[in-house]
Amino acid sequence: MRWLARAGLAIAFPLLLLLAGCQGNEGVTRLSGTTMGTLWHVSVVDVPEGYSAKSLTAAIQQVLDEVNERFSTYRPSSDVERVNAAPVGKWVPVSGQVVAVARFSEKIYRDSGGAFNPAVGALVNLWGFGPNAPPEPRIPSDEAIAKARASIDYGKLAIRDEPPALMKPVPLTLDYSAVAKGYGVDRVAERLDELGVSDYLVEVGGEVRVRGHNGHGKPWRIGIDTPDVIGDEAYAAIAMSTGAVATSGDYRNYFDKDGKRYSHTIDPVTGRPITHNLASVTVIATTCMDADAVATAIDVLGPERGLAYAKKRALPVYLIVKTANGFEQRYSVSMKSYLRTPEQTASG
Ligand code: AMP
Ligand code: MG
Repeated sequence: MRWLARAGLAIAFPLLLLLAGCQGNEGVTRLSGTTMGTLWHVSVVDVPEGYSAKSLTAAIQQVLDEVNERFSTYRPSSDVERVNAAPVGKWVPVSGQVVAVARFSEKIYRDSGGAFNPAVGALVNLWGFGPNAPPEPRIPSDEAIAKARASIDYGKLAIRDEPPALMKPVPLTLDYSAVAKGYGVDRVAERLDELGVSDYLVEVGGEVRVRGHNGHGKPWRIGIDTPDVIGDEAYAAIAMSTGAVATSGDYRNYFDKDGKRYSHTIDPVTGRPITHNLASVTVIATTCMDADAVATAIDVLGPERGLAYAKKRALPVYLIVKTANGFEQRYSVSMKSYLRTPEQTASG
């Protein structure tokens, strides 16, 4: 998928370092694999009856393979790419999964005032963050940006439940990369629920959902990366027994040109990569799809409008803001009870 090895691998490793350092690995079975151009990791306290680590890994991989097959922008056969390739006005049959994500995305698109917009695909491609990324980054012309911006009206997408299908009444290029990893995490969590697993941590490329407790019988601990390029240190940590956490930021997936950084997150208003001083945003929600979409929305909105949006949605949010001397943290009142220092986390 589009979020790329560049971003995902880098995000997954530091998180895992932190997890390895504090999750009480003795009592935990750790499973892993690759999906959506990144890594996935699952920790379970008990492997369910009738399963081995190997067969549980295969079951999780199957869930994620299906999500990838639906949403990948790198596979012409995926549901999303079939919709993108279809002519305007034609209904394209898709999986119920795609309809669910398309509808949920519409809600976040509307209540974020269009900051979260899964129809930014043409702009993502134009800026070189798509599947056909050029070897050398280039800055598109104003004309090319204006042209791509003319086809990002996600509110126009027609979504049908029965039989599940999507239709573009106007030209649109769909890209659910900002929400599909979170959605994949939710699907895996639901599979584990069905199998009767009561204590787990699921992570896909840095997006996380947990249930129950870790190997020490304590809430799961999740690291928030220091938002720099090296990034093998946690800036802060979250302790949580139920729920999901997602992070967006400009510190992994970007290009530098003429001394300027260009993020993979596009502001639909300008048609250009975001330029504010928000280095990363971490959101807690019940589902990982929600946390993932809202984290991207806040990443677009920037620190002030982003915090206001999180308050409107009543979601705990943690921002790391760039300052002249480094970084500064800002968080909503509801985030406070989840926060731990990395030192507290390392001591178990
Ligand atoms: P995330 O890492 O979840 O914030 O997702 C970032 C990815 O979402 C980018 O690589 C793009 O493919 C896509 N994207 C970029 N800008 C937006 C936006 N404003 N709304 C929704 N998706 C976006
Ligand atoms: Mg996201």
